[in-house]
Amino acid sequence: MAEDVYDVVVIGAGPAGATAALQLGRKGYQVALVDRAAFPRPVTCAGWLSIKVEPLLAELALPAKKFLGSPFRDVTLFNADLTKTAKPRFESSAGYLVDRASFDHALIKAAVQHGVTFFQSSAVTDVRLKERSVEVTLANAKRITSRLLLLASGRGSELLDRIGFPRQSGGNPLWTAQAEAIGINSVAAGLKGPASDAANTAKAEPQVGVVLGLDGGGSFGLLCTSKDRVSVNVNWAGARERAIPLLVGLCKAAFGNRAVPVDLSKQAESAELVRCPASAALDMDSHVAKHTLLIGDAGGFISAASNEGIYPAMWSAKIAAQVIDAALQSDFSQDELMTFDSLWRTQMADHLRSPHTDIRFLLPLIFHNQPMADRMGAAFFFGENL
Ligand SMILES: Cc1cc2nc3c(=O)[nH]c(=O)nc-3n(C[C@H](O)[C@H](O)[C@H](O)COP(=O)(O)OP(=O)(O)OC[C@H]3O[C@@H](n4cnc5c(N)ncnc54)[C@H](O)[C@@H]3O)c2cc1C
Repeated sequence: MAEDVYDVVVIGAGPAGATAALQLGRKGYQVALVDRAAFPRPVTCAGWLSIKVEPLLAELALPAKKFLGSPFRDVTLFNADLTKTAKPRFESSAGYLVDRASFDHALIKAAVQHGVTFFQSSAVTDVRLKERSVEVTLANAKRITSRLLLLASGRGSELLDRIGFPRQSGGNPLWTAQAEAIGINSVAAGLKGPASDAANTAKAEPQVGVVLGLDGGGSFGLLCTSKDRVSVNVNWAGARERAIPLLVGLCKAAFGNRAVPVDLSKQAESAELVRCPASAALDMDSHVAKHTLLIGDAGGFISAASNEGIYPAMWSAKIAAQVIDAALQSDFSQDELMTFDSLWRTQMADHLRSPHTDIRFLLPLIFHNQPMADRMGAAFFFGENL
C-alpha cells in the first residue's frame, strides 16, 4: 500500500477545508486536502456571503471581485405573508451571492496553486490518531500520514464519532430546504403579469429578501435573485413535516407578491430537507482532539440568526490555520492546539449566537421604524446583536 507523509491532512474541501489548506499551503507546509466528491460538485445553497468576508479574502490574497462578483445592497425584509416590507440601509453593501459549486472549486484551485496536494473522489474510510501522527485511509486503500489533522467534513459527518467528538446536541437546529432555478433570465423573459417587473430587475444587481417571523418567532425564509439564478429557502425551527409545505407556500407567495421572478413551488415539493446545526459550536465542550481540530459545519460553526455557514466556516478555518501553524513549530503541539477553543470563542461567539431579543416583539416595529429595520438588517447580514 502506498503511503504519503504530510504536515497536515485536511478532510473535506468545502469552504472550511479549502480555506485552511490554502492558508497553510501559503505558509509552505506540506498539506493534503481530501474530499470524497469530484469537483466542481453541486451544493444546495443560496450562496449569500456577508460582506465581512472581504478582509478574510484579502488575507488569503484572493481578489474579491474575481471570487465573489458584484456585491448586493438591495435587501427587502418581508413579514410572514409578504404584505409588509422594509428596506434596511447599509453603509456599503450587505454581501455577495455566489454560485457555490464555482466558489468552492475556485478556493480549491487557489490552494493547489500554493502547493496543496488535492485528493478528490477520495472518501476517507478510516482515521487513526496515533501517538505521534495521524493516519488517514482512503477508499482506494491509500494511506496518508500527517502530524496534524483538520476535520472539515461538513454537517452530520460520521467521522466525528470515529475521532471521539460528541455528536452535536443541536444548539438551535433548524430544518432547511431550498427550491431553485438556474438560468432564470431565459425563464423570466417569458413571464407575463405581476412578476415581469421582478424579472427585469433580475438582470441588474442581485436582490435578497428575508421573510421574517414564519413561526411568529425566529424561523425565516430567504429569497435570492441574481442574474442567472433564483432560490427560495426556509429555515424552520418547528416540526419537520411542516417545513416542505411551508416552502411550497412561500414560493407561491413570493411569486405572487413579485418578490421573485419565477414560481418555484413545483421544485419545492421535492426539495431535500436537511437539519442545520445552527450555532451548535457554542454548545460543544471542545473542538480539539488528539492532533486534531474541528472546523466549519462539522463543528457547528453556523450563525443562529441567519443560518449563514460559509463565512463562519472560512473564519473558523482561518483561526485553525493560525493555531496549526503555531503547533507545527512547537515541541508541545497539543498544548498549542488547545488554544483553538478560546481563540474561536473570543472572536466568533457573538457572531454565532442568536439575537438576545425575542424577535416576536420586534417584528411589528421593523415595518414601521427605519432604525429598527436597519438593526434587523445588521443582525441578519453582519451577525450584530439586535
Ligand atoms: C439549503 C441550504 C442553503 C444554505 N444557504 C447558505 C447561504 O446562502 N449562505 C451561507 O453562508 N450558508 C448557507 N448554507 C450553509 C452552508 O452551505 C454550509 O455552512 C457550508 O457549506 C459549510 O462549509 P464546510 O466547508 O464546513 O462544509 P461542506 O461545504 O459541507 O464541505 C464538507 C466536505 O466534506 C466532504 N466529506 C464529508 N465526509 C467525507 C469523507 N468521509 N471523506 C472525504 N470527504 C468527506 C464532503 O464531500 C464536502 O465536500 C446553506 C445550507 C443549506 C442546507
